[in-house]
Amino acid sequence: MTGRTGLKSLFYTAIIRFNSRGSKISLLNKVLYYNFTKEDLVSCREEIRRHNVASLSLVSLVNGVLMILLSFYPKYGAAHRGISLFLYLPSAVLFGVFAYSLYMLKKKKPHGDFGITSSLVIFFCAVTFFCIFVYVVEKSPFALRFLLMFLSFQIIFVMGMAKSIAINAGVILLFFIANKYSPAITSFFIATNSTFDIYSIILYVLICMLLNWYTASVIVSGIISYNHDQLTGLNNRRSFDGSVNFYTSVCRHVHQTVCVVMMDVDFFKPYNDFYGHTKGDAVLRSIGRTLRELSEEEGLYAARVGGEEFIILWTENRLLEAERVVLKLRQKIIDLQIPHEKSSAAPCITASFGLYFMRGGSHDSKEDLYNYADVALYKAKEAGRNRIMLLDSADKSCRPVELRPPEELIRR
Ligand code: GH3
Ligand code: MG
Ligand code: MG
Repeated sequence: MTGRTGLKSLFYTAIIRFNSRGSKISLLNKVLYYNFTKEDLVSCREEIRRHNVASLSLVSLVNGVLMILLSFYPKYGAAHRGISLFLYLPSAVLFGVFAYSLYMLKKKKPHGDFGITSSLVIFFCAVTFFCIFVYVVEKSPFALRFLLMFLSFQIIFVMGMAKSIAINAGVILLFFIANKYSPAITSFFIATNSTFDIYSIILYVLICMLLNWYTASVIVSGIISYNHDQLTGLNNRRSFDGSVNFYTSVCRHVHQTVCVVMMDVDFFKPYNDFYGHTKGDAVLRSIGRTLRELSEEEGLYAARVGGEEFIILWTENRLLEAERVVLKLRQKIIDLQIPHEKSSAAPCITASFGLYFMRGGSHDSKEDLYNYADVALYKAKEAGRNRIMLLDSADKSCRPVELRPPEELIRR
């Protein structure tokens, strides 16, 4: 990902903050929707973005049509030329937003984030304008209720539970004050004596918040179970099949070297046979945690692609730096110090690694990428396990990576 700036960065920071409290979350929150880790949300950011754009385009369309219809209504536009012009302007904006977000969805543009944030801002302004307009002209409490619902709508994707409650409470307070003084303010525009009941507004906001939380929960958990492996919390095979195209295309067109590591736990069948399947699962969970930590530290993509097989992808042009990352991973697995009596490689759980150094400009397909990393892994197993074998795409030569402390290979 390239550097993020301005509104775009604010928007994403907010989404990531949506749940950055890790394990310190209560059971109730977990039940609601907070049982997602920070990595989960980062990994489904793209899907959340698309969901937001999809709902944005739908709501814009509906609102645009509503405003056009309103301009024919005798009381508003049809009777007053000025007012109907007043309505055409925001509806044009809304149709514009609709077309723009459709374009974004179709293009699946990776750089579309700023466009989406700005269209969201335009959209917020247009709808707020619309509601205030209806309220001022009609004195309809429904317009204000719609505005409330709108303000609380999707806030859950942007903020955490505490902030969401605080904002909704703030909105209620604002409307309470407006309710108290609104006759004085709005009589400037039109004579009125209509009021609305603050309790129904509170109820309305609460219902909206619950619905939003429920929707967020369904969407986020759907995305996560679709792309994530339940046992380890890593990406799954399906996610890998979708993500690998990005790496082959970066390699081919941007001439970036892609590092592919295929990792397989050593003597895992004997481990299961000796210690039992439950302990085996715990090992896979620990390895999953280690891989997630390393992915965060080094900016890697990691997936579980088989029972005890994992694949890691990242771009790195320097061979030494690529070696440092795999050496670090190997060391981290050893450092878990999980006893394994039945292993002939070491007294603890270890893994073997095949590193395929797919140099920039290579035309390898995703199958080639997988197969070459697998060949290297096979060679590492053959050579005695708990080691790293490197396969270079330049000459398809295979050689072992010298087992030195990763710190020796200083990062530049
Ligand atoms: P090698 O060193 O050659 O990799 O030997 P190995 O025993 O690790 O290789 P093999 O592929 O024969 O065994 C893989 C084992 O992984 C078989 C199965 O018992 C275990 N396994 C696969 N998926 C799971 C899982 O989800 N949980 C547990 N506990 N074990 C699993
Ligand atoms: Mg194995
Ligand atoms: Mg295996």
